[in-house]
Amino acid sequence: MEKLKLITNEKVEIDIINVIRKLKQHSTKKWHSRGEDDINKVIFHHAAGIIDIYNLAIYHVRPNHISETGCPTVCYHFYIETDGTIYWCNNFTDIVWGAKGANQNSLHVCLNGNLYKGNPTLAQIKSMISVWEWSKSYFQLENKDCFGHYHFGKQNCPGETIEHIIESIRKNIKTKKISYRLTSNKEKQISLKKLGYYGGIIDGIWGLKSKRAVYDFQKENMRLEQVDGWFGTETKKAVRRVLELKNIT
Ligand SMILES: [Zn+2]
Repeated sequence: MEKLKLITNEKVEIDIINVIRKLKQHSTKKWHSRGEDDINKVIFHHAAGIIDIYNLAIYHVRPNHISETGCPTVCYHFYIETDGTIYWCNNFTDIVWGAKGANQNSLHVCLNGNLYKGNPTLAQIKSMISVWEWSKSYFQLENKDCFGHYHFGKQNCPGETIEHIIESIRKNIKTKKISYRLTSNKEKQISLKKLGYYGGIIDGIWGLKSKRAVYDFQKENMRLEQVDGWFGTETKKAVRRVLELKNIT
């Protein structure tokens, strides 16, 4: 694996692992090309599940939800692993299929995980911000050129935390000053305990009792199709709502 530093004229740099053409490639399909000058925005995504870059490429090359006959290779330019490692997956001149109708001028960056249901890691958030800073400098973009897939019709991509960071960037808040709060397991247990669904100790360990408590809470307070045992965005909102309703602080 080739480790590289990508550096711009303004000396903004990121450490990346170059896996271009090392991931699963389609036997016949190739990306269409553009000039690097055509890039006028960055669109962030989440993988909607835990999957490493090699397996994601295999998934994208096979018939899938993006193309019935498969894609040329993985549909992103950068992939950010849960430990913060940044993989460089396609040339910037490759027009990858990251967001329907918005690919010609976009750089697509994806974070591993289901960030709608769970939280990104701090390492991922840091890498995401460095990728943005680097892209902004290298492609001469402005903060308004930072997008999430949700801007292009995919509602829950890439989830609440990253959405908050993107919106902060778009509001010209300096990336060093962007605050993000990840709900810790302890905080989740505390609110479930206050509501009477969790009887265990507040130790931050997400075991059976915690999972059970989420299910029980969801069954009684959320729509049937939302019952999945995950303490994600929707559940967080519902917990907040019920706490307010019951006047519990
Ligand atoms: Zn997406």
